[in-house]
Amino acid sequence: MLWLPLGPFHAMENQMLVIRIKIPNSGAVDWTVHSGPQLLFRDVLDVIGQVLPEATTTAFEYEDEDGDRITVRSDEEMKAMLSYYYSTVMEQQVNGQLIEPLLIFPRACKPPGERNIHGLKVNTRAGPSQHSGPAVSDSLPSNSLKKSSAELKKILANGQMNEQDIRYRDTLGHGNGGTVYKAYHVPSGKILAVKVILLDITLELQKQIMSELEILYKCDSSYIIGFYGAFFVENRISICTEFMDGGSLDVYRKIPEHVLGRIAVAVVKGLTYLWSLKILHRDVKPSNMLVNTRGQVKLCDFGVSTQLVNSIAKTYVGTNAYMAPERISGEQYGIHSDVWSLGISFMELALGRFPYPQIQKNQGSLMPLQLLQCIVDEDSPVLPVGEFSEPFVHFITQCMRKQPKERPAPEELMPFGSQSW
Ligand code: ATP
Ligand code: MG
Repeated sequence: MLWLPLGPFHAMENQMLVIRIKIPNSGAVDWTVHSGPQLLFRDVLDVIGQVLPEATTTAFEYEDEDGDRITVRSDEEMKAMLSYYYSTVMEQQVNGQLIEPLLIFPRACKPPGERNIHGLKVNTRAGPSQHSGPAVSDSLPSNSLKKSSAELKKILANGQMNEQDIRYRDTLGHGNGGTVYKAYHVPSGKILAVKVILLDITLELQKQIMSELEILYKCDSSYIIGFYGAFFVENRISICTEFMDGGSLDVYRKIPEHVLGRIAVAVVKGLTYLWSLKILHRDVKPSNMLVNTRGQVKLCDFGVSTQLVNSIAKTYVGTNAYMAPERISGEQYGIHSDVWSLGISFMELALGRFPYPQIQKNQGSLMPLQLLQCIVDEDSPVLPVGEFSEPFVHFITQCMRKQPKERPAPEELMPFGSQSW
């Protein structure tokens, strides 16, 4: 790459700079800047935020003379980009060519409507050229266990989402495994929900969790909460997701059947999507169904990382009241068990109380195992006929069959989901 000495660069200082912001899958927006060299990284992100209001952009790229993309994430990298750009402008001027605007590419943004518009990743990639570098999991062979703690720490803390960029605001709620905060992501100006879980586990386990979480990046459904990134700091993991301004369904108490029908469509679609990716939710319950004022319903807290689920289970002992009878008895767990939890959740939302009157859920959904034995021993509860429509009662009854195999299979659930009862 050609770097001009300082002289010509300074000579350009007062010149106007046109930054052309490339919009993914469409055109571009030109932005005229009057004091180019003083421009800060944050200023550029602000403008990108106005051009792509739906996206959470934390970095952008430009192309060098070989067409290689260089990522800009800091003022330092901004300076390098401007220095490079002004050197090309000088050349264009010397050769009597038209001055080309500075073309930048908001990092991995997709247009509104598509999933993962934020283009953020779980931080398992190392090094400054992380956009093109190999995944750590690729570059670390099985003897990676020998990597030094310091190196692993760096890997785990590295990336686009990090503690320094997050300002915690309100506490949204406490669960069995951690606390969820409403937070402000400074570089993008976006509001996030950040779940912080204390986990006293080894660095190796932390790394395993991080790579297991990477599948969230591929999740692409409007019925699943958007995932922005995750990072470990000391003994806690922070998982950053889309903020849902309507909160979770557990606080809504009794929901009318016609509204529940619409919610069920979204929840069934979300579950079917996860199952299609071979992911079992494992924690279907009203507090893991989130709503927003755009009328969307999305699932969260699904068990994408076995290691995370296990680590939480070891730290926070108890049995979930929405678990299927076979799971309470310690038998095998499958899609059918998620279907049970779907049924009992919707029954609770319809009744406005937990369907087993003998089970008092005071705080949270974790209970001593003995208290849940009635779910294993007794017949499933049934919704009162007359108060609810026949298709709705049928839907719940089918989902809450004691025998897992008698519960509806995913393709049989969809007709319920699309039905207006
Ligand atoms: P568990 O720990 O078993 O999942 P839980 O779902 O009640 O139990 P958390 O997942 O920690 O607990 O969530 C606590 C509360 O935070 C939820 O009840 C919900 O109201 C709120 N919450 C969680 N995620 C979001 C989000 N993305 N947007 C808005 N509110 C959220
Ligand atoms: Mg939850």
